[in-house]
Amino acid sequence: MLLEIENKIDRAILDPEHFNEISSKKEIAFRNALYIKKIADKSLSIKMKYKLYNRANRINNCMSLWWWNLYKENKIMDFQKVWRCKDMYCPNCRAVDLDIQIRGYRKYFNDMIAFGYNPYFLTLTIPNINLDDIYYKIDMINKAFLQLWLWLNRDDKKGFKDRMFDVKAATKSIEMPINKENKLGHLHIHAILFIDNESESDFEKNIEAYYRKKSNEIVLLSNADIEMAKLWTMAVKKENVSQYKKLSDSWENNYKCDIRPIDLRKGLNEAFKYSFKDTDINDYDIFKSVFFGFRGHRIRQSYGKIKKFELKKSKEFDIERVPAEISDYLQFDEEPEILKTHNVKELNQEYKDFKKISRKKAYRDLVNIKD
Ligand SMILES: [Zn+2]
Repeated sequence: MLLEIENKIDRAILDPEHFNEISSKKEIAFRNALYIKKIADKSLSIKMKYKLYNRANRINNCMSLWWWNLYKENKIMDFQKVWRCKDMYCPNCRAVDLDIQIRGYRKYFNDMIAFGYNPYFLTLTIPNINLDDIYYKIDMINKAFLQLWLWLNRDDKKGFKDRMFDVKAATKSIEMPINKENKLGHLHIHAILFIDNESESDFEKNIEAYYRKKSNEIVLLSNADIEMAKLWTMAVKKENVSQYKKLSDSWENNYKCDIRPIDLRKGLNEAFKYSFKDTDINDYDIFKSVFFGFRGHRIRQSYGKIKKFELKKSKEFDIERVPAEISDYLQFDEEPEILKTHNVKELNQEYKDFKKISRKKAYRDLVNIKD
């Protein structure tokens, strides 16, 4: 029991490394803000210039105002809140947002499992794309995913009658690593599907398909992989599902897909990743393509019974708290003062003698999410 309490106390401590990590992510945010200003400078629209400069300034000012409860005598700073820009090109805010979403979804995922639906991890690909085509291709795969969902979910004439299983709910996200040598984007979808009426043998990967040089392995497919690849390709190419039997089953003629059971306790961070890597967009032309390509698109989306979660995603009240009391940290009773601090670096400099704690997990875990 005591061990458990000590653990909780440790979990809330923000060590200097935490603030170093925030500072280095801020450097990336400054870089992105510069790119946004460059886009603004080249824009012919006054309104656009105004909007983009505002946006860049918000990113630059992110985390430049912190509120703490200061216990001077105890040398403790208890984190209350920090002003954040919430921009997708701010790596600090992206980390918090992702963390809040993972925590938020977890509850709905547990509900699905309680209903008796099993979670599967699905990857859907298309051939690599030109960076000029991002906007149009994201639109294309979003529409194709909706079609796939309708085929696998609905029992009426919009559904696919011969499917191997029913999908009851799904959460998908879009990801795009970039090959900087040939400037092609590997745009793909990761989804968690909650499946009913499936048979385990359909997911056994025992069909030899092709050799993968990168990992030196023979890729094995399951019947479910083959069905999904075919339906996915049909959805992308806008084929009618009535054509299913006429079209090719061969993996060579369809886009690569993979579906497998997922252990949600371990696999959530794998499924919820960032849409792009900061190291991929450290070039103005690539940044600009990604900026306009992703603009206005929904990157993460839910279908079916977990759809309602999106309405309140990312609200601050979803931040889980470490169940520790301030008295766990104080040597003696003291009334706190309100302290406002400004840049991140001063926390490791002027305030280096103060122990900083945060009982809000999202901020605590900022450093734990990597690209
Ligand atoms: Zn931010």
